[in-house]
Amino acid sequence: MNLSKLSTEHYKALLNHYGSPITPLRHKNIEQLAIAVILSAQCTDARVNQITPKLFSRYKNIGDFARASQEEVEKIIYSAGFYKMKTMHIIALARILEKNYEGKIPDNFEALLKLPGIGRKSANVIMSSGFNKICGIVVDTHVKRLSFRLGYTSNKNPDKIEADLMQIWPKKIWNPMSLLLIFHGRKFCKAQNPRCETCFLTETCRFFKKC
Ligand code: SF4
Repeated sequence: MNLSKLSTEHYKALLNHYGSPITPLRHKNIEQLAIAVILSAQCTDARVNQITPKLFSRYKNIGDFARASQEEVEKIIYSAGFYKMKTMHIIALARILEKNYEGKIPDNFEALLKLPGIGRKSANVIMSSGFNKICGIVVDTHVKRLSFRLGYTSNKNPDKIEADLMQIWPKKIWNPMSLLLIFHGRKFCKAQNPRCETCFLTETCRFFKKC
């Protein structure tokens, strides 16, 4: 089976198991989504979802974040890790949005990449989950690991993995497939001790076949 067909088979099986996926990061608008995405670097979505209710209740819009004190934001987001850097990024982001974009996240992938704390992965999340526009594929640690185990890539660099996946996966599955692999990585295909004995992808998993 070629890799494109293989990915479609995996997609159907994952969709059947997990249902239609949406981003687990809770948000009420795209600006909140962008801030949640910044917080999610090196941090679980569950932890971010514990932090954001208090954060978004204290700072209700981009203007509030633009005028926030570094110390106060740090205290609220402390448990997300890298809290000093993340706070700097959030406040700098808010100031740029207020100055250049009327307090709104720009609906433009290239413009997103120029904002503090936003790389390709974050920009892809914002474009797909915020604007419903597909520009690329979100490659986080789970997508990286599963793409290797399922046989889509032998690259280690996320940008190269994304380029490989964009060649293999049909475009209509770019966003849901990425989310489904993240769910599967959390539940079955863990970094240490993947739960292959109960996984439903064994028949088409290259990693499992080599074991
Ligand atoms: S069979 Fe094992 S390695 Fe393959 S996707 Fe399932 S859990 Fe991961």
